[in-house]
Amino acid sequence: MMDFPEKLLNGYHIFMKSRFTHERERYKQLAYEGQKPETMVIACCDSRAAPETVFDTDPGEIFVMRNVANLVPPFHPDKEYHATSAALEFAVQSLKVKNIVVLGHARCGGIRNALDLDGAPLSTVDFIGKWMGLLTPAAEAVATNTLMTSGERQTALERISIRYSINNLRTFPWIKRREDQGKLALHGAWFDIATGELWIMDRRTGDFIRAEE
Ligand SMILES: [Zn+2]
Repeated sequence: MMDFPEKLLNGYHIFMKSRFTHERERYKQLAYEGQKPETMVIACCDSRAAPETVFDTDPGEIFVMRNVANLVPPFHPDKEYHATSAALEFAVQSLKVKNIVVLGHARCGGIRNALDLDGAPLSTVDFIGKWMGLLTPAAEAVATNTLMTSGERQTALERISIRYSINNLRTFPWIKRREDQGKLALHGAWFDIATGELWIMDRRTGDFIRAEE
């Protein structure tokens, strides 16, 4: 107990005194009836872009999968361990969510890593390099575009990766089927940490349009 981060313990005390006290009934109901979130969010691990904070959600409202750079790999049934695909399978097949939101964000370290074509790996195994390798063709095209500034390249790849992940969602047969049946909608969004702006992907054109505050 003594070694547990004090900041977290203090936060827990505040949570119990305020939020849990106010929402005791909701937590009890969620515990007995189970969760029925209508939306799954795929977000980055980045500590500044927590979807529960950005969307001000209550417990039980969003089913969240977070990974480095909020990527959805293509459907790939094999003997490997697929954390993101497992979360998708549960959200779509069991919870039957109506929406999947891929939430990207500004200043994403994973995207920066993908754009740094000759960067040194963080470990000899280079898990991040392999994971971000999903974006290699797009990252190379963007990284070598000398007409753009580095900031423009960063934002461009962040948004390209959201469209890429949404396309990959459609490679999962049960996601494609439910989308075709009108039971599931796929969305993209991009959060600018510095300004708080949220940009929503137009599902027809793929362009990002700033949402009203
Ligand atoms: Zn990120």
